[in-house]
Amino acid sequence: MTKYTFGLKCTKCGSEKFTIPTNPKPNDVITCGKCGAMRSYHRLQKQTLATAKKTVEKDLAKRIGNKPIVIKIK
Ligand SMILES: [Zn+2]
Repeated sequence: MTKYTFGLKCTKCGSEKFTIPTNPKPNDVITCGKCGAMRSYHRLQKQTLATAKKTVEKDLAKRIGNKPIVIKIK
């Protein structure tokens, strides 16, 4: 089985280091450790999920011969 792991990524500089509260709530603001950009935790999570979905879809499509695959996340 293939495992995919994705971390949060800064939309501005691409850094994966963030200052995150211990128990982040969706509305908490987290700060990029590199460029200082601030995003809500919820927004970053959503964006990370979207990126992950795209990557996995592409990878799966390659494996089964370029048939388009759409993954639905509930
Ligand atoms: Zn950044």
